[in-house]
Amino acid sequence: MPTWTNWAGNQKSRPVIIENPSSEIEVCEVVKRAVNNKQRVKVVGSGHSFTGIAVPDEVMIDLTRLNSVVNVDHVNGLVSVQAGIVLSDLNAQLELHQLSMPNLGDVTYQTLAGALSTSTHGTGLQRTGLAAQMHAFRLVTALGDILVCDAHQNTEVFHCGRVSLGALGVITEVTLRVVPAFNLRAVEQPMRISDVLNNFPQLIEDNDFFEFYWVPHTKWALTKANNVSTDAIDSPSRFATWYNKMFLENYAFGMLCRIGRLFPRLIPKLATIIPSSGRVEYVNVSHRIFSSKRLVKFYEMEYSIALDSLVPALQEVMQMVEDRGFTISFPVEVRCTGSDDIPLSTSTGRRSAYIAVHMFKGCEYGEYFSAVEMILRKYEGRPHWGKIHNLNANDISSLYPEYQRFIEVRNQLDPEGVFTNDYLRRVLGR
Ligand SMILES: Cc1cc2nc3c(=O)[nH]c(=O)nc-3n(C[C@H](O)[C@H](O)[C@H](O)COP(=O)(O)OP(=O)(O)OC[C@H]3O[C@@H](n4cnc5c(N)ncnc54)[C@H](O)[C@@H]3O)c2cc1C
Repeated sequence: MPTWTNWAGNQKSRPVIIENPSSEIEVCEVVKRAVNNKQRVKVVGSGHSFTGIAVPDEVMIDLTRLNSVVNVDHVNGLVSVQAGIVLSDLNAQLELHQLSMPNLGDVTYQTLAGALSTSTHGTGLQRTGLAAQMHAFRLVTALGDILVCDAHQNTEVFHCGRVSLGALGVITEVTLRVVPAFNLRAVEQPMRISDVLNNFPQLIEDNDFFEFYWVPHTKWALTKANNVSTDAIDSPSRFATWYNKMFLENYAFGMLCRIGRLFPRLIPKLATIIPSSGRVEYVNVSHRIFSSKRLVKFYEMEYSIALDSLVPALQEVMQMVEDRGFTISFPVEVRCTGSDDIPLSTSTGRRSAYIAVHMFKGCEYGEYFSAVEMILRKYEGRPHWGKIHNLNANDISSLYPEYQRFIEVRNQLDPEGVFTNDYLRRVLGR
């Protein structure tokens, strides 16, 4: 069997068999066969998780062929799609129907089910992560049953399964609440980090979608303020778009990272180039503004903390980077979302700020990530399920008020651990 590798290249495995079902019935057959053969099953999305959450060890299910739109209900704002659809394809399909996801993360390479299963999120205090947009889903369980889960049927599975870590079974179809298509006005500009932190509450209240990147070794942050706009699309010329999004964010930044990897001592000097990108303002369809292409490969850790803790927590991280003398070529990303009620959502029960740290692929990240993790744990930080962290079930159970509720649903649906793997054993206890 070919080796499976995730996007970042830090997770690899050689599954015993790779299955490519093209229907829900075929998914049931694959699961039943695996159970009869006493094999574990792992559905793999686009492999965009940095943790071992998607690592298949025996039967790997690839849902690439389950990628269609099943139903569009304009009246109720609901769209049903097969779970293997990639977010960029979903966005294109929604645009054809003049609909849109209310919010997205910063890339769209992930499958829908993969993104939902790890509590993937973007930014924006008035919005939530993607999973809170779920209206219903269909799940193939370890017993080979097909459960329809929504607010009326299998309600406990619905409540817990919106962020499932892939531990409850195979999601084959998802019904999402969507909104009419909307444009965003994007303003991207460098600001002094002190100004961003002093005005953070205002910036996240005044803008629909605000995020920033603190540039280590400088006093600067790159900010992105996106606001819903009724203005017509007014994007820069193709060249300007290519220059900002491809040349600066990918090729030039990638070159800085490569030089920094060879000569780490140059990183603080190189970092001063990053905030000189200038101000850009443009209007485009929301999904084209939310997400960009990411050609520079990296490793990432991201923690969610209560929104009010953002400023002191980030200040501690900034101080720690200086005190420890780390040389970091990747900016530290900060986002925020509203709260939701999903047991394993990283923003369950609290308005959340997210602090994400990155390291260029091929560079040692362990010490830096652990030092950041130690700070964010003091703030009851919850690690992103798909991004590197060192926590185990014991640590995690106290961070989620409804952790045990999820565990009980899992015990009922998958008592033998058909859908488990090493990562799930670590964070769920078996
Ligand atoms: C460049 C890059 C940018 C990113 N940006 C963001 C961001 O902006 N915001 C954010 O929150 N995260 C972000 N992430 C993390 C990413 O969104 C998550 O790790 C996401 O889970 C990846 O989706 P995937 O399709 O690759 O799923 P995988 O990583 O392949 O799988 C993740 C989990 O989903 C499960 N799964 C997949 N399909 C199914 C199914 N049909 N049924 C049941 N379980 C299933 C898998 O078994 C596994 O447990 C980013 C990652 C990268 C590499």
